[in-house]
Amino acid sequence: MFHTQDYLRAVQDLSQGGFEQNGWMYGFGPGDNPVWPEMDKVERLKAGSAIQAAELVAAGKVEVAFAFAGGMHHAHANRASGFCVFNDPVLAIHYLLRQGMRVAYIDVDAHHGDGVQAAFYTSDQVLTISLHESGQFLFPGTGFTHETGSGAGDGYSANVPLAPYTDDETYLWAFREVVPPLIRRFQPDAIVSQLGVDTHYDDPLTHLMLSTHGFAKVVETIRDLAPRWVALGGGGYALDVVPRAWTLAYGIMRDEPFPDDLPPAYTARYSGSRLHDSNWPELDPGSQVKVRRYAETQVHDLKRRLNL
Ligand SMILES: [Zn+2]
Repeated sequence: MFHTQDYLRAVQDLSQGGFEQNGWMYGFGPGDNPVWPEMDKVERLKAGSAIQAAELVAAGKVEVAFAFAGGMHHAHANRASGFCVFNDPVLAIHYLLRQGMRVAYIDVDAHHGDGVQAAFYTSDQVLTISLHESGQFLFPGTGFTHETGSGAGDGYSANVPLAPYTDDETYLWAFREVVPPLIRRFQPDAIVSQLGVDTHYDDPLTHLMLSTHGFAKVVETIRDLAPRWVALGGGGYALDVVPRAWTLAYGIMRDEPFPDDLPPAYTARYSGSRLHDSNWPELDPGSQVKVRRYAETQVHDLKRRLNL
């Protein structure tokens, strides 16, 4: 299980013993998790934003709160991983659990939400669901259908690995086959969602092919399922996609869509003039069939394992 004390101990070890001695123990170093000035302060702010979102939602002050700097889903209890230092989704979920709430976690980042899954793998109070590009092809190499939880948590972890080039149509089919029935069966008091947008066709780090239209439909479905909702950010490495996608998400949360025209200050800096994608690459029919068949195999296998 996850303990905040593990992080505090890591920070203390690093400051006392120096990075050279202890950095490797905690996942820091060249690569995905370099140490940089004010890292601790900035990462604490991200984690704090997620905890504050959970506080507002749990207190009933708002029905939904969006902490878009959060969503650092790869961090583990004792190590940084995949650009993630503190696992704010786990911290937010723990806050909600302490208020006596059952929590469902929905992760739509292109990468498997491994750190969150690991934190609650033996718990039946948290249902974790992750849809992602298969670990066969992408970091962190986990998130297969057989990872369904253990002990009391058996049946409370769900993973839908998808093939590279999966597009809106197949993604939405898989999402709707798995997520609404699992949420209805679990009956959470609150949903925590990680809304990574590195599923986009323009993202340089992954190979999924969603558009902002597909992403917005996913967000709308989560909204319709959530009794209370803590929304977090996540991955996204196409800089002209991230602000558009999360603005769309924010409009859905407000139940008041924003106009599709973008302000001149934005279009002067980034490409595109509309909030939604206005054109996007289409898969050839042969590839469409392949990604759909891959998704169908995974979804059917997962449903069998979870008696869904
Ligand atoms: Zn990601």
